[in-house]
Formats: sequence, structure tokens, C-alpha cells
Amino acid sequence: MSISLSQQVAIVTGASSGIGRAIALAMAKAGASVTVDHYRDGTAASEVCDEIIATGGQSLAIDADVSNESEVKRLFSETIDRFDRVDIVVANAGIQQDAALVEMSLEQWNRVLAVNLTGQFLCIREAVKQFLRQGVRQKVSRSAGKIICMSSVHEIIPWAGHVNYAASKGGLNLLMQSTAQEVADQSVRINSIAPGAIRTPINQSVWSQPEGRAGMLRLIPKGRIGDPQDVAKAAVWLASDESDYVHGTTLFIDGGMTLYPGFSEGGG
Ligand code: NAD
Repeated sequence: MSISLSQQVAIVTGASSGIGRAIALAMAKAGASVTVDHYRDGTAASEVCDEIIATGGQSLAIDADVSNESEVKRLFSETIDRFDRVDIVVANAGIQQDAALVEMSLEQWNRVLAVNLTGQFLCIREAVKQFLRQGVRQKVSRSAGKIICMSSVHEIIPWAGHVNYAASKGGLNLLMQSTAQEVADQSVRINSIAPGAIRTPINQSVWSQPEGRAGMLRLIPKGRIGDPQDVAKAAVWLASDESDYVHGTTLFIDGGMTLYPGFSEGGG
């Protein structure tokens, strides 16, 4: 199945590396014009844009911190100045700042919640406002706009040593679902993707070490760590009308991590 996102404009946050980068490239390959949001990572973001432009696509890099209200507003206004509209928002930016609960500083708690949860709120709010302003273009898509929130298996799997991260992703689930309820009859579609272990810089310290890699693999029934492209392909589908009836749900892309592999032999 070949999916076209031509004549559509996508904003992908945190698109200078990892999953966001793969999604930006995949959306451009499907024909979308893409804003590559990044956080003080201009060189890597320019490389993503160059790759898109080299294959005939259109792209714009914007440095905007998703936890900052005025920077998110500027992310949207500069995208609209350049491309006239926004059809797809992938709220992908996310961070980890790990510590045991009793050692976690308020700064670590606040920063992870600010980027991973408040950042989602700010992007979702600007997206919905823009989608309602611009309305549906029937020849292009059945929706005025589509939002994809990048969650994690830790929206449902508790994660000791990462309470800030797990809380941010658990909160994101109800932010996404409540928004879905609120906008369902306004031609705005919103869903989440919940990746398991995907090979990116965020978890490089784990998968790059033999012990860490083996530990990861014990949690993945499918027996391999995911690639950013595993997520990017699904994001293109979720952004397209091929998934038009999918709304308010989370798509887990985790090689079976949420199947409780510890119970695979009866658990006894
Ligand atoms: P990554 O570190 O490669 O990408 C994160 C991106 O977010 C980076 O480009 C970073 O510059 C950007 N970013 C950080 N703070 C930002 C801010 N304040 N404003 C804008 N951008 C900011 O890691 P990744 O694995 O590609 O992570 C992408 C998303 O996927 C995150 O939300 C993460 O929680 C989620 N996720 C990843 C995995 C995994 O195994 N890699 C699993 C589950 C969920």
C-alpha cells in the first residue's frame, strides 16, 4: 500500500534525531512538506532538511522548545508563513532525566513533565486551534488535521527509577483521550503511538552495552530492538486517511513488550 500525504504540511517536534527524524523523512517521502522542529540542534536539523530537499521535498528547520508557550506559537506561525497551513502535527519531542525517587530533584521532575506533558499540551492546543481555523479540504483529507502524540509503553508499564518519565507518559494518555473526546465531531483526529525499545540516542547508553542490550531483549518477545523506521511507517499511516476511523487510541509498536513476557512460560 503506498500512502500519499501530498499537499499536506507536517510539523514534527524533536525531529533532529531518532524517531522524530525518521518520521520527518518518511512524511516527506510520502509527499508532505515538513517543518523539522529541534531544540538548539540546528546542524542536525539542517541535515534532515537537506535530505528532504535533495529528494525533491520541501522542508524548514525551526528551533523551538516545546515546553515554552511563545516558542510553540512561533513554531506554528513560522510554519504557516512558509507553507500556508498545517495538516499534521507529530508531538514527538521527549526527554528522560532518570533517578531513584528519593534522589530525584524537583528540577528533574519539572523538566521532564514540562517537555513530555506540557509540551504535548501546548502543541495539541495550537494544532487544534489551527485545524479549526482552516477547516477540511475534502480533496486532500477527510480531516481538518491530524495529531500524533509520541507516548511510550510506559504510559501503562510502571518504571522504577523513572517516575517522572512514566508519569509524563501516563498523563499523556488521558490528555490525548480527553482531547479526542472533545474534538471528535470537529474533523480533528488525534492518536498516540507508544513505542517499546527503539534504537535511538535516548537509550543509547543501554543498547550500546552488551549487558544492557541483553536486558532489553529479555523484555521483547519479538527478539529484536526496534528501529526508528518501525515507528515512522506507522506514523505515516496514522497521519493519512487510510486510518480515518482510528481516533483516540494508542498504537503500541513494541515487539510485544506489553505482553508481559515474564509470564510467557506460565509465570509459575
Ligand atoms: P531522541 O533523544 O533521539 O529524540 C528526542 C528529540 O527531542 C531530540 O531531537 C531532542 O533534541 C528533542 N527535544 C528534547 N527536548 C526538547 C524540547 N524542549 N523541545 C523540542 N525538542 C526537544 O530520542 P527518541 O527515542 O527519538 O525519542 C522521541 C520520542 O519517542 C520521545 O517522546 C520518547 O519519549 C519517545 N519514546 C522513545 C522510545 C525509545 O525506545 N527510543 C521508547 C518509547 C518512547
